[in-house]
Amino acid sequence: MDSPKSNDSTNSGLRDSTSKANDEEQDELCPGFRNADAFVKYGLGAVLSATKASASLPQTGDEDDFYRSFPGFREFCESQGDKLLHCMSQIMQHHGCRSHLRDQSKLTGLEERFDLVVDSNDVILERVGILLDEADGVNRTQQPVLPAGFQPPKIVVSSWNRMVALERSRSETFRLLHAKNVARPQLKFKEKVDNSNTPFIPKIFIKPNATKPLSSYFTNKQIRKQRPEDLDVPAALADLIHQQRTQEHVEDMFAHPYQYELDHFTVPEGLLSKPEPQMYKPISKTKCSFIDSLEDLVALNEKLCKLSEFAVDLEHHNYRSFLGLTCLMQISTREEDFIVDTIELRSELYILNEAFTDPAIVKVFHGADSDIDWLQRDLGLYVVNLFDTHQASRALNLARHSLDHLLKHFCTVDTDKRYQLADWRIRPLPEEMVQYARTDTHYLPYIYDCVRAQLLDFNHGQPGLLQSVWNKSRDISLKKYVKPIFTEESYLELQRKQKRSLNTQQLTAFRLLFAWRDKLARQEDESTGFTLPTHMMNKISEELPREPQGIIACCNPVPPLVRQQVNELHLLVQQAREMPLLKVRRWLEPMFLPEVTMFGPHDTSRVSESDLHHCSRDGKLDTHARSPLYLGF
Ligand code: AMP
Ligand code: ZN
Ligand code: MN
Repeated sequence: MDSPKSNDSTNSGLRDSTSKANDEEQDELCPGFRNADAFVKYGLGAVLSATKASASLPQTGDEDDFYRSFPGFREFCESQGDKLLHCMSQIMQHHGCRSHLRDQSKLTGLEERFDLVVDSNDVILERVGILLDEADGVNRTQQPVLPAGFQPPKIVVSSWNRMVALERSRSETFRLLHAKNVARPQLKFKEKVDNSNTPFIPKIFIKPNATKPLSSYFTNKQIRKQRPEDLDVPAALADLIHQQRTQEHVEDMFAHPYQYELDHFTVPEGLLSKPEPQMYKPISKTKCSFIDSLEDLVALNEKLCKLSEFAVDLEHHNYRSFLGLTCLMQISTREEDFIVDTIELRSELYILNEAFTDPAIVKVFHGADSDIDWLQRDLGLYVVNLFDTHQASRALNLARHSLDHLLKHFCTVDTDKRYQLADWRIRPLPEEMVQYARTDTHYLPYIYDCVRAQLLDFNHGQPGLLQSVWNKSRDISLKKYVKPIFTEESYLELQRKQKRSLNTQQLTAFRLLFAWRDKLARQEDESTGFTLPTHMMNKISEELPREPQGIIACCNPVPPLVRQQVNELHLLVQQAREMPLLKVRRWLEPMFLPEVTMFGPHDTSRVSESDLHHCSRDGKLDTHARSPLYLGF
């Protein structure tokens, strides 16, 4: 970042006048900034303009190709690109990260460079976390400062990595707030989260709008409600019951419950003709209801069932949960906005399947890929007749395909995605977050009209292009949620990305730590990133500390679960140290894999069967029990 002094006066509001007396200057945090606040505000402004500028670059593909056909443009891009890479390399070096971004001979692919950047971001953000923790410790006695006008609830907004420089409150003070105090919503879930290393089974037991009835596997309550582990029967018998059920229903269990309906879905004729866009109501004149009771949810469903379209979006949390949690559902009709508490109503939301799977009602989403997964995983909800405005934007070849851009383009509404990464588990939901959430769906019904009209115009009134958007949207709603499954090779996938050459001991440590992390994260229902961030796992594997204290020293700040289990971790590292020491180079590249030349091609004496055996990734029924990696636990 340039020093603000070299910039024009537009920044002067963000920093102190440079004409201050010398003695005052000595108190400055760094030249031109009186304190951290001023520096942060300036920094955020710079980041924001850089992000905006980069987002408005020509998109890869035709647009970029076209611009690049002009030599002047190409040269400019290359020199700027070089400058940027140089700058990034310097930042990365400063933080002690690998930084061969510009070294074409060492790294070839974009993907590899991207990995480098991701790694460095991890390191830098971790450091930010440490410093915030330190600052937090120092200021423990102070009350947190919240955005002005914000009544602090008992729990506070987390997420230090979101932008806090509000347009309208530039001068107000913020303190970055931690998620430490948010109660774990999982604790009050009626149905326990299933983190077991087994494939996902749909959470559905009634199927509204069915043309093909739901398999008896789901409708029979006995079967559905009682997981074998909950039955009061000996383990062996439970296994047998489980096996039998699995054999009988295996196909139904893993099928998409609405596969048949979606395969036979045709867009209602009327929706393929040109609509007259129906203007949205101003947000300020629109009623917004927070739905957190069963009664209100039922009423909402009834309302939705009478409509011809409504818009949906979800907010999600994935740091303090293994699989992630759907925290909020926003629904907008042409008349009203609704914010549904999907934590409180998690077990009841299946009710909405009546509207969500009604083929006569269009459900408008923007970029529904993840939403479709989350709806299935947490709420047992499916969508029949989805219209994804992100797909429409692509088909229209708009400059950018983000919701921000559509809002700007069609509604001349400026939004900022400041709360996108907020901790959505927080309750009661601060008013600002409610306001943010509703803008994600409020304008979508109108955008849906606009893009339909344009898709038809674009294609000279022929419905082909519009139909293709509906087809793409249907493909998205056909997606099935896939649970992360641990296999003996999972660690290889991650290790391959690291591009570090490890010796046998280090690699063994990495494998053991990876298995430890996966198991503990599932058990404690935490993300793997919370349990043990990858860069710390790398550090431990590289250094192979001899003492538990050395493990602690590799982690800063020390993740709570690492501290708790440092002795177990130490045993794993010791186990790794007992491996014969050999360099392992590049064998992790896929083409080297079949040989697994970990110990040299002539020595397979110490390669366990599990190392050599590469079962197919589809063998998802593999459980921990079969994995030698887990035998030690
Ligand atoms: P959205 O569809 O933009 O409302 O995003 C839905 C959820 O996706 C958010 O609540 C976040 O949990 C997650 N999310 C969105 N954008 C990002 C991002 N850039 N990085 C990480 N998570 C994101
Ligand atoms: Zn979304
Ligand atoms: Mn959203």
